[in-house]
Amino acid sequence: MSSKTSIAIIGCGMAGVSLARLLVDDRPSVTVTLFDKGRGLGGRMATRYTEDLEFDHGAQFFTVRGQPFEQFLKPYRSSFKEWKPAITTLSPNYKKYNRIWFEPHYVSAPRMNSLCKQIAQGLHVQLQQKILDVSGRPGRWVLESEHSLAGPFDWVISTAPAPQTQDILKVPEFNVTYDPTYALMVPIAKKTSFDAAVVRDSPLSWLAVTASKPGRGHVNQRSIVAHASTAWSAKHLNTSAEEVKAEMLHALNQLSLEGLQDELAALHLWRFARPSTVTDDSYYLDTRKQLAACGDWCRGTNVEDAFQSAYELFLAIRTQIPKPAGNLS
Ligand SMILES: Cc1cc2nc3c(=O)[nH]c(=O)nc-3n(C[C@H](O)[C@H](O)[C@H](O)COP(=O)(O)OP(=O)(O)OC[C@H]3O[C@@H](n4cnc5c(N)ncnc54)[C@H](O)[C@@H]3O)c2cc1C
Repeated sequence: MSSKTSIAIIGCGMAGVSLARLLVDDRPSVTVTLFDKGRGLGGRMATRYTEDLEFDHGAQFFTVRGQPFEQFLKPYRSSFKEWKPAITTLSPNYKKYNRIWFEPHYVSAPRMNSLCKQIAQGLHVQLQQKILDVSGRPGRWVLESEHSLAGPFDWVISTAPAPQTQDILKVPEFNVTYDPTYALMVPIAKKTSFDAAVVRDSPLSWLAVTASKPGRGHVNQRSIVAHASTAWSAKHLNTSAEEVKAEMLHALNQLSLEGLQDELAALHLWRFARPSTVTDDSYYLDTRKQLAACGDWCRGTNVEDAFQSAYELFLAIRTQIPKPAGNLS
């Protein structure tokens, strides 16, 4: 019988890659295979780019408040930098006023997914594999994607959003709801007086100039990412993309920015942007079935919550993994 424990992890966002790294570094007897439906790692820590332009259209920054996250990130210090933007408040109706951040805010560099890429370095990752189903039994789980089967695995852990995790693992419904966010990406020819802005009295809630982030010296042309507010995004889920784009552009132009290249604007909908209600526990774990799940939706709404959920699951699951014979540690 193999003394190795094989684990499949679905999702390569912060939760998936940090859990994989923690498990592999803790026990050489564990083999982990990561699967993601996307073309790259990082999940919602994402940058869309062309030759000249880059847009951090998902997570804007992250904070490091807890000791476990701080400790975990130490070996990856070169992949993220503190962002100290000139930050302001904009409104179509009132004068702008500057804001101050009272704690460090970090961004991955050179792109938003760089940190996850670095954490996953050397791990076995399979991209463009949308997992549709998990079948079999504990110790013999098989993952089915659109084009292939993978396995058998001793354990399967999902970090996909709660509704997808429920479907894939066939587990009882998690009491999790999500807020959507529309992200509008617009090149801008003129320098703005701010790097980031909270927006009031508008369909928009947040603007950021991606090129203002540290480690983005390679970005030739400036661009703005505008996030619509949660309420506005939810109200317009059934509106056509063209109409949403036009309304968001109109709102952006009301903020008196100069040099916006409206004709090049692109839109992205984050249907599961941030959880609005999360599970009672920090992770899901069924030790009998050897199935588990974690992600921001088990803790809160941000990158550190995703890590913390993965970290707490790691502490719980490592006690379930047999130590290889002869290992006294
Ligand atoms: C617009 C927006 C703004 C945000 N702003 C901030 C911010 O400023 N600060 C902050 O800290 N957080 C922010 N967040 C939240 C932050 O991005 C998330 O909390 C965090 O990245 C979640 O990490 P995760 O690993 O739990 O999930 P994800 O990053 O979503 O990773 C899950 C992964 O699972 C994959 N997946 C899903 N289904 C399948 C399947 N069936 N098969 C294979 N793979 C699958 C997905 O492709 C994805 O890569 C923001 C999010 C959005 C969308």
